Amino acid sequence: MTVHIAFDNSYARLPGAFFSRVRPSSAVAPRLIRLNRPLAEALGLDPDALEAPEGVAVLSGQAVPPGADPIATAYAGHQFGGFSPQLGDGRAILLGEVIGRDGLRRDIQLKGSGRTPFSRSGDGRAALGPVLREYLVSEAMAALGIPTTRALAAVATGETVYRETELPGAVLARVASSHIRVGTFQFFAARGDTEAVRQLADHAIARHDPEAARAAAPYAAFLAGVVARQAALVARWMQVGFIHGVMNTDNMAVSGETIDYGPCAFVDSYDPATVFSSIDRGGRYAYRNQPGIAQWNLARLTECLLPLLGDTEDAGLERGREILAGFSPLFHAAHLDGFRRKLGLAQARDGDGALLQDLLDRMAAGRADFTLTFRRLGDAAADPARDQDVRDLFIDPTAYDGWAGSWRARLADEPGEGEARRAAMRAVNPALVPRNHRVEEAIAAAIERDDFAPFERLGAALARPYDEPADPALAEPPSFDTSGYRTFCG
Ligand code: AMP
Ligand code: MG
Ligand code: MG
Repeated sequence: MTVHIAFDNSYARLPGAFFSRVRPSSAVAPRLIRLNRPLAEALGLDPDALEAPEGVAVLSGQAVPPGADPIATAYAGHQFGGFSPQLGDGRAILLGEVIGRDGLRRDIQLKGSGRTPFSRSGDGRAALGPVLREYLVSEAMAALGIPTTRALAAVATGETVYRETELPGAVLARVASSHIRVGTFQFFAARGDTEAVRQLADHAIARHDPEAARAAAPYAAFLAGVVARQAALVARWMQVGFIHGVMNTDNMAVSGETIDYGPCAFVDSYDPATVFSSIDRGGRYAYRNQPGIAQWNLARLTECLLPLLGDTEDAGLERGREILAGFSPLFHAAHLDGFRRKLGLAQARDGDGALLQDLLDRMAAGRADFTLTFRRLGDAAADPARDQDVRDLFIDPTAYDGWAGSWRARLADEPGEGEARRAAMRAVNPALVPRNHRVEEAIAAAIERDDFAPFERLGAALARPYDEPADPALAEPPSFDTSGYRTFCG
């Protein structure tokens, strides 16, 4: 069965400085772990052909299909605040772009398919664990309705990858509306190549902000678009307790999709200072720091675009400052708006922010589980007898009582009640997020016993996060304290 993919590779048509042409390395014995059939269909690909040996060869990087133009893209980036002028795709290869059934362009990228000119000392490989983690978490984010890159397939390569120990290797076929990062702009800006910055901006505008091309000031409109998308995105992260873990500027996509699922994790017991990444010693990317970091990254993007924002340096600076200043109000509005709905409030009232903060403070002090608290509030809203289920989540249940009185008084102000309110709340408060201990359990079974059943079960449940899972245990918090839990980059 031959694999026909109708590639149209716009990034590979940009000037040579934007990328390096590469060949993926040949996996020794590729074995398909999972193909995302609905996603393949949405992209206009033939899932049966992709599941056949010829398709698995393509998804692992063993074979390059006709029409592909594999490249590794160049980018720079601030990593934990320090600038690296050259990073680039060290273990990712952009096979090409396809136009999906929705008419939108998407990148198909292989992550872990071998070394590139940007690999530096890295091996260009990915270990099975991080590939499964990215598959589960990115697909869970999509099911939660949060903009994200997608997982098209996970393939075991049959090779050994050396990290602290020997691990099975794998490739993730990743789909994104583009892989243009803040760091891609930084790559050219740091070299003083304003013409390349302009070409990149034009390309990004065509893909992500086509209406900006018709605006009086297209580059300002583009920057405003990126700022608005990031404000909305980070607000959505906060509302599900997601911690990205490595918000370096090379891991922020101008499309507004969540990208790079290395050390990410979800909070169980709520604590705004939560940090998961083992390399984030200073807590730079802690839960509560995410909006500020997003804004910091956007300031770096603004610096890159300054020459395009105004006729004079001063005019560009003023315009840039103005657009950047939009982040904070946009974020706060999106943040409060989303949390308001999580509390069952359809209308905006003064004092809603204080009501929310009071709950979050009590959750933090009471070590209440983030996901379950909001999920159970829906039941309590419909039936005060269910307060007990929420109270049980707090170390001191009276902490909840002290808040619930004001919440009920505020709810009395709202139209709708009972079942309708509960249904509305359940539609925004997931029962299920990819909890770390479940993700780890699925990864351990795959690595230690070649057993992918837990991965399949968890993935199937995460596809419907707003429904009660068939296995209620998947929704439960870990029975142990996870405050010292650490994730590692793969
Ligand atoms: P990340 O921390 O995943 O955002 O990656 C930062 C940079 O390191 C990017 O340029 C990656 O391409 C590169 N990189 C990460 N892991 C590897 C690896 N195993 N081999 C080569 N390059 C890598
Ligand atoms: Mg990265
Ligand atoms: Mg990574």
